Amino acid sequence: MLTHIQKSSQSLLDLLFPPRCVNCQAAASWLCQNCLSQIVFITPPICQRCGTPPAPGASSCKQCQHNPLQYLDGIRSACYFEDNPIRPAIHLLKYRNHKAVAAILATILAEAYRRFELAVDVLMPVPLHPARLRERGYNQSELLAKALSYLLDLPVNSRALRRTRHTKSQMTLGFEERHQNVAEAFACDGFTGAGQTVLLIDDVCTTGSTLDACADALKKRGVAAVWGLTLAKAR
Ligand SMILES: [Zn+2]
Ligand SMILES: [Zn+2]
Repeated sequence: MLTHIQKSSQSLLDLLFPPRCVNCQAAASWLCQNCLSQIVFITPPICQRCGTPPAPGASSCKQCQHNPLQYLDGIRSACYFEDNPIRPAIHLLKYRNHKAVAAILATILAEAYRRFELAVDVLMPVPLHPARLRERGYNQSELLAKALSYLLDLPVNSRALRRTRHTKSQMTLGFEERHQNVAEAFACDGFTGAGQTVLLIDDVCTTGSTLDACADALKKRGVAAVWGLTLAKAR
């Protein structure tokens, strides 16, 4: 929750730099109601594991037939990354230091949490490597997880999971390379939530390899179930 000082410095910032919608530039908020209402949400039917709607006429999920998730119980994503205004909003959150947009994007995550009837004990952001964290100054997934924790009244644990290796950006890698790139790149220590259900929070999911590697580390610590919830899914 925002402290008084944070609130007043945010109001001052809003006064000096009035928020403009990241998508249509309307002077309103970082994402205006009009653009928010244009978001196409992913709705059932979906694959129960990876959360992807099946291709027309297909009876099972191709991704899960060929590259099944090994440790995760399932992934759910709110919408597609390529659709406006999601891509520009995530870009601002991640690369332009627009932390205020996290609160708006978290409302989309909260809506998806309820729509997919998830029920978990604790939220955990996918961690950045300490070097990347220093470079960016913040972890965008942690901002999303904290704002979501406030909306859902659920605890958030940003410390238990650590990235132990600096991994290459997953952007240009194929499935198998992604899998190898992040395999055993995470560790979990000091988490006393054995038997609990954890919800991993991230901004974008492509193949699910990163979330699956996090789930591997958590399950080694006795966590009962691990789900992933991402704002967006790459098509
Ligand atoms: Zn707009
Ligand atoms: Zn699937």
